[in-house]
Amino acid sequence: MNLHAIELTTRDGNQLRFECADNQNLLEAAANAHIVLPAQCGQGSCGTCYADVTHGEFTLGKHNPSALSAEDQAKGGTLLCCTFPHSDLNISLPFDNDRILIGEVKIRNAEISAIETVGENTLRLELCLVPDEDGCCLAEFEPGQFMELEVPGLAIKRAYSLSNTGNWEGRLEFLIRLQPGGLFSTWLKEQATVGQTLSVHGPKGAFGLYESGLRPRWFLAGGTGLAPMLSMLRHMADFQEPHPVRLYFGANRVEDLFCQSELKALQVELPQLQVIYCVWKPEDNWEGFQGTPVDALTQDLADAMVMPDIYLCGPPALIDAAEAAARAHGVPDKQVLSERFLPT
Ligand SMILES: Cc1cc2nc3c(=O)[nH]c(=O)nc-3n(C[C@H](O)[C@H](O)[C@H](O)COP(=O)(O)OP(=O)(O)OC[C@H]3O[C@@H](n4cnc5c(N)ncnc54)[C@H](O)[C@@H]3O)c2cc1C
Repeated sequence: MNLHAIELTTRDGNQLRFECADNQNLLEAAANAHIVLPAQCGQGSCGTCYADVTHGEFTLGKHNPSALSAEDQAKGGTLLCCTFPHSDLNISLPFDNDRILIGEVKIRNAEISAIETVGENTLRLELCLVPDEDGCCLAEFEPGQFMELEVPGLAIKRAYSLSNTGNWEGRLEFLIRLQPGGLFSTWLKEQATVGQTLSVHGPKGAFGLYESGLRPRWFLAGGTGLAPMLSMLRHMADFQEPHPVRLYFGANRVEDLFCQSELKALQVELPQLQVIYCVWKPEDNWEGFQGTPVDALTQDLADAMVMPDIYLCGPPALIDAAEAAARAHGVPDKQVLSERFLPT
């Protein structure tokens, strides 16, 4: 067995080092060194542990091609949970040092405080953390992060992005698309009731706001991909951040658009926020944008004076298309941040 020296550099320039054997994956080796990197499935399915190898040789094991685009792979992109080193490696992480946990992921209990239908097959789930042994309810997370929810007795954990912001009352809010035949979805639809207790693991994940001065921020969401965008926009409103900002929110039909009243309320608190509703197959009387959010993004990038930071969230096909549009218009890769909603 050979041991290789692994050097990680975060987006804000911090360096971390650990050793990894050639039959071990990088995520596991980092965890053994008490470095908990943003990740979710641990088996190459979700894309949450994306990073770029800048120097060294490695094998990328079995993974879901939707979790790692061919373009990213060609430029050294990899998924740490299925990367096995053949040499010492230098790795560039696409997030800041504060997303790395030194220690263990928190597990707390939380009670369901509300379940509300917001659209066809889409629910808003609100949980309230049970006070810990010190009586503290603090819901501490960064906008853009997700939690894993576990139903006692169901033996599964599912990742869902938070749509609210950190708070002292212990409130955790999620927008959840009910997947046909999905284990968590079926439980949520048929059995979940207010007052029931779940385990919440986290916060986790590297997706979130990129502090890059006052560059415009363009958010693009498909379906429940709106959740982390709402969290980031609410954070911007809370801190009165002055960046020019727009949200492209896409749905197939007008009736699939949800949270419109929340977005209207946000526009009052964050007056520079432009919301562009994009409907692929609207009724004849639709006055908004007709097409996908990627169509709207492509059109607007052609006229952009300053290349914005672009935040993408939703199904992988939407993200791949938006990344391609951003590249075609010369937006630097580091200005494009994404979270893929894959099965977890
Ligand atoms: C980091 C991260 C954050 C996420 N945040 C959210 C969120 O905020 N809101 C949200 O609605 N979803 C989110 N997801 C996706 C969600 O975790 C999965 O859809 C999850 O698997 C659903 O669990 P389930 O038990 O209902 O379905 P499962 O039992 O996991 O799956 C049932 C069937 O549906 C298919 N399926 C499941 N999920 C998807 C999907 N996303 N796309 C296409 N087919 C699917 C499966 O392949 C399977 O055939 C997130 C995923 C990741 C990786």
